[in-house]
Amino acid sequence: MEFNPIDKAEELLYLLREYNPIIKRKSDEEYEWMEEETDLCIVLINPDPNSKLSTLEILCEDDGEFTLSCGVHAHYYPYDEEYKRMCEMVLNILENRCCSADLLYGEGKEWIMGGFFCRENLEHSTQDIFNFAFHESKYLSKKLQAGFWEAQYVFWNSKYDKIVKGGKDITVCDECGSEYLASKSKMASLCPECAHVLYGYENCNHVFEDGKCTLCLWDGSQSEYIKSLKNENKQ
Ligand SMILES: [Zn+2]
Ligand SMILES: [Zn+2]
Repeated sequence: MEFNPIDKAEELLYLLREYNPIIKRKSDEEYEWMEEETDLCIVLINPDPNSKLSTLEILCEDDGEFTLSCGVHAHYYPYDEEYKRMCEMVLNILENRCCSADLLYGEGKEWIMGGFFCRENLEHSTQDIFNFAFHESKYLSKKLQAGFWEAQYVFWNSKYDKIVKGGKDITVCDECGSEYLASKSKMASLCPECAHVLYGYENCNHVFEDGKCTLCLWDGSQSEYIKSLKNENKQ
């Protein structure tokens, strides 16, 4: 350990001065959950009443670690690098460059996993963002393909919020209108074909049978815009 987290409280208060930070201790109402009398929690109240992130809290444990909570939570050890990473994340959340995201499953919205993510990554598909659940974990990927899921990307300012719903992995392309398997596309709401033509992402090696690709389910539909792009490329 390079320093004691509670010694950074003043610095954090200064860093966050524009956001009216307040300090809470174990003796304060609703903060009895803190372990030690000497622990500190820096609390920012969200001025946006519609945001699902009502507070951002940085717990500084005496001789322990930092915990950043804002929707989801993350732990940071008291080393300079980690501390710097945490401060960046806090500002990214407050300036709506990062969101708190949860992946939920089924009608009962069972929590599968969560994390902090950058806004620019949200142009990727939920399958890519939650790569672990959709691809790496055999157990979870099977489960997610079998039923409906919902990804909630929640920001400090709720106007940036985004909810993506998927299920049984079949979804409809915004550009061409064809159904496709979301797990086969690198982009949210575009089939592999349109994601390839419009943004250069790797295409599916389509295998057509009965008018549909057996790998990604694209049915060969093309928007006028896509057709014109393809014609331009030929000339
Ligand atoms: Zn498409
Ligand atoms: Zn295909």
